[in-house]
Parts: sequence; C-alpha cells; structure tokens
Amino acid sequence: MPPVPTPSVIDTRRDQMFPTLDAAEIARVRRFGELRAFAPGERLAKVGDVGVGLSIVLAGEVEVVRYDSAGRAASIVTHGPGAFLGELAQLSGRPALVDATARGPVEALTVAPDQLRALLVAEAELGERIMRALILRRVGLLETGAGGPVIVGRADNGDVLRLQGFLRNNGHPHLRLDPETDADAKALIERFHVDPGQLPIVLCPAGQLLRNPGETELARCIGLVGPIDPDRVYDVAIVGAGPAGLAAAVYAGSEGLRALVLDCRAFGGQAGASARIENYLGFPTGITGMALMARAYNQAQKFGVEMAIPDEVIGLDAVDFARAGRFVLDLANGERAGARAVVIASGVRYRRPAANLAEFEGTSVHYWASPLEAKLCAGQEVALVGAGNSAGQAVVYLASQVRKVWLLVRGPSLAAKMSRYLVDRISGLSNVEVLTQTNITGLEGTGGVLEAVRWRGAAGEETRHPLRHLFLFIGADPNTDWLKGSGVALDRKGFVLTGSEAGRPLETSVRGVFAIGDVRAGSTKRVAAAVGEGAQAVAALHAFLADAGARPAEMVPTGSA
Ligand SMILES: Cc1cc2nc3c(=O)[nH]c(=O)nc-3n(C[C@H](O)[C@H](O)[C@H](O)COP(=O)(O)OP(=O)(O)OC[C@H]3O[C@@H](n4cnc5c(N)ncnc54)[C@H](O)[C@@H]3O)c2cc1C
Repeated sequence: MPPVPTPSVIDTRRDQMFPTLDAAEIARVRRFGELRAFAPGERLAKVGDVGVGLSIVLAGEVEVVRYDSAGRAASIVTHGPGAFLGELAQLSGRPALVDATARGPVEALTVAPDQLRALLVAEAELGERIMRALILRRVGLLETGAGGPVIVGRADNGDVLRLQGFLRNNGHPHLRLDPETDADAKALIERFHVDPGQLPIVLCPAGQLLRNPGETELARCIGLVGPIDPDRVYDVAIVGAGPAGLAAAVYAGSEGLRALVLDCRAFGGQAGASARIENYLGFPTGITGMALMARAYNQAQKFGVEMAIPDEVIGLDAVDFARAGRFVLDLANGERAGARAVVIASGVRYRRPAANLAEFEGTSVHYWASPLEAKLCAGQEVALVGAGNSAGQAVVYLASQVRKVWLLVRGPSLAAKMSRYLVDRISGLSNVEVLTQTNITGLEGTGGVLEAVRWRGAAGEETRHPLRHLFLFIGADPNTDWLKGSGVALDRKGFVLTGSEAGRPLETSVRGVFAIGDVRAGSTKRVAAAVGEGAQAVAALHAFLADAGARPAEMVPTGSA
C-alpha cells in the first residue's frame, strides 16, 4: 500500500492558523497599532524584507502568497476584515517569508514588533490566540520550505547536511534541490555558472547566491542574525541558548530586563538533540527536545529578549566592569557586546568516540540508563562504553533488564577507575562481557537507527556486532575555553565554580557573572535542573543589578582562574 501522506497543518488546524478578531477585540488592540491605508497592489510584506509588523485588516482584502524554488507563486490565504497578517518573523522584526499584497484598497492596523510583544503580554487570552497562529503559520512554512533559502546539492553531501541541520535546528524553512535530477536546480546552476565542484550553492530569498557558505554567512544573508550594537549595554548577556540559557532569558525578559542571548550553533543546546524527553515535569506523554526548546525560544522573544544565533563568544572582559560598569563579550566575528551582568550557560559537549555518532543521538545513543532506556532495550544486546563508577552502576542496572551488555573499556582493566564493589558485582554477572583495551571504530545504521557497532580489541582485530543501542559513560567536557583570562574560576576539569560567597550559590568568582546548567561544577545534568537554575539566576541578577546600580565603582572582579 502506498504511504498515506501526512495532512498539512493548514488542513488540520486552519481555524487556529487564521482566526478572525471581532470588533471588540480590534478595539482593544487599537492602542498598540497605527492605522494605515494601502493602495490596490501595494505590498504589506515582501519576501526577504523586514516588514511593518503584524497587520490587522480592517477593510478590504490582502492575499498572502509563497514561492517555490523556481519563483512560482502559490496562494496561501486571502485575509479579509478581522484577519491578521504575520508569522513568527514579525515577533522579532526579521525578514518576511511570504509576500502579502492588497487586493483593492485596504485599511489596516499595523502593529510594530515591539508593540506586538507588548500586546501579547498585556492581552493574555487574545495574545495566546495570536501567538498560536504565528507559530502554526511558521509550522506551515516549515512543511513546504517556502520563504527560506534554497540549497542546491546532493542529499548525502556533508556540507548540505551541515546547512540543512543548521536551518532545521533554528526552525527556519528551506528547500533542497538535487543538482542531478531537479530541473529547477539545473536552471539555477546554469544561470549562475556554477561548477559541480562548487556545490552546494544557496540561493537566499532576497536573491543573493552563496557558494558553500558557513553558518554565520548564511544566517546573515537570511536575516536570522544581525550586527550587535557595540554601544548598547544590556542588563544581562546570556551565553548559551540551551534550556538553562533560555530559562534565564524567559525570566529576565518577563521581569523587564534587557537581555541578549548568544549561541554559536542553534537554540536548544543538547536538549534540542533529544528525540523525546520523558522526564520533564508537565509532559506525561513526553515531548521532543526540539519542540520543548522551540517553545522556550519563542517565549523568550515574546518577552523582548534579543537573540544572536549563531554568534560565538570567544572572550569575557571583566576588567572593563571596574572602569565602565559593564562586562564586554568578544565574539568570533570581531564584534563586541556589552552587559551589566553575564550568565554563563554554555553547557558541555559529550566526548564522541565515533564521527557519525550525532546521527544516532536521541534514538540509539544514550548518555544514561534509566528505566526509560531499559524499556527500549528490553531483551536485546547493548554496548556500553566507559570505566568509571557511573558506567559501572549503569552496567549493573542494564544487566538486569537486557539480554547482554558488552562493556567496552579503553584501558587495561576496570579496576583503575571503578570502585571495587562495582568491579566485583560486574564480574558476577553472567550476561556482561568486559572487553578491555577496546575502542569503537564505527557505527552503522540508517535513518538515525543504529544497526551495528564496530570495535577494535586488544589484538588489533576489528569486529562488527549487530546492536540497536549504545550507552556512553565517557564524560563530557565543559564549553569554557572562552573564559580563559576572564578571572572566572574553574575546577580541575574546566567546569565553572560557583557559590564561593555565602548566599550567592550561582555566582562565580567574578561578581556579576553567574553560571548555570551543565557548565556549572556540581550541577545535575538534566533539563529540569538547568531550567531551575535559569530561573534562580535571574533572582540573583536582580539583587546584583540593584546593588551595582547603586555602587558601580565597588563592583570590581574578585576571583582568578
Ligand atoms: C542526546 C541527549 C538526550 C538528552 N535527553 C535528556 C532527557 O531526556 N532528559 C533530561 O533531563 N536531560 C536530557 N539530556 C541532558 C540535557 O539535555 C542537558 O542536561 C541540558 O541540555 C543542559 O542544558 P544547558 O543549557 O546547561 O546546556 P546545553 O544544553 O549544553 O546548551 C549550551 C549551549 O551553549 C552554546 N555554547 C557553547 N559554547 C558557546 C560559546 N562559546 N558561545 C556561544 N554559545 C555557546 C551551545 O551551542 C549550546 O547551545 C540529554 C542530553 C543529550 C545529549
């Protein structure tokens, strides 16, 4: 039987996507907008251009169209009186992903991005309906790829995968065309005289052509990120847009602080890579990491938090605080961002024993062994890499749940790092086979599902084992290289030390610089813990800012690395 096509969000949730405001509701939002008249044929939005914001149609009709890779237009909807134009891009003043044109004379109430955010916060029930519509419209565009860049390149090309991964992780629509089979791709290659060796190319919505761009170049071209005003001093700059950083952003923004979030890759951090988070409070059926993090990202923007993604922070200048009452972050692109306080939420990176490991994360590669993972592996053979106590505890637990555990140890014995009692317990388990001096050499599988693991043993021979699940307990390294020379104290492994001052549990050795989430020494490596610390840090921030506002000259950095 041919596969049943997944219904589009436009078909299943049309009413929520395109709601109509009644006269009383329009009267309530009038104070946020400006009345404007548009002539027949005039554009209210144009793909690639920053538009006027959200527009509520008061009289007349506006047609919204999207374009395919060859520039062919397709109508999405025609808005009449009471309907409104806009999608998520309007929340943060980013370029439009669709065209909207007046069909006849139109009168509209246009609401600029900052006023739209104020409206969403002030009008809770109406704000919820509008926000839901904006999100669903983005989901609709993501389904078709409309409004975003067009990537021309083969599906298995490493750079194509890199660019697609970047756009997908940032919730930005895009299309990929195959240069060998797609007529539109061939036309683009001819039109821009591109050699096959120069692929992939990327055509941005405003017409620019990029040849195998880096993520930053692409992000700039499509308006995802813009330059940072070097003279602006934010109340707080948050480094990292994982769960910890986004939680801090939501609480800072909702409490009226001017916050900037910087992330070198995408919002969501490690949590964004989780196929299903089952243990986050309030989601009894689980939620994909990407869905949870996208909600947090939109929520932070609703509260006016500025996002600089992708922007890598390479240095923290705390000395400037003593002089000018602000910290300065140095960015990889040469820009600088100033803030009165800094939150370090840059997380960790798991050590990866195989190059293509990321493909299987969230489905077949696990970083801990709870009953959830055990259920996935029940009755199967699994492999576990590691030799510390956490690896030992996981082996003992998994052995009671699965058919067999292959324990792969890089060193010559388990005893070097593992407690004696665990070593003894493991040696008594008949379904655990310990392979010392063994390293993973490759992972095989398709569609994110692991099918086999290859490893090389002490004698140098490589073996291949059909396995669905791999557990890694080989530790993670903190993302703290950028803190070198800042005065922020780190522990032996590079995690940020906090709480040296009584009553300031999340503050680092430098006053006004806080650390939260996985990057913090001693933190619990879980989404909920990271989110909790994000909220807690904002309370501490308030106290610091109030104090610093009163006595800026005394807020000198105190610690040393
Ligand atoms: C595959 C996987 C599945 C998981 N599943 C679960 C689960 O089901 N339940 C659960 O509770 N936990 C889970 N976790 C753990 C959880 O995701 C982490 O504990 C959590 O994400 C930590 O949040 P964080 O914000 O502290 O750091 P991170 O999530 O690591 O985010 C840090 C962010 O900082 C950015 N960054 C780093 N350096 C810089 C820099 N110099 N400049 C700018 N940005 C920078 C990174 O790009 C990243 O986006 C999982 C982890 C993984 C890897």
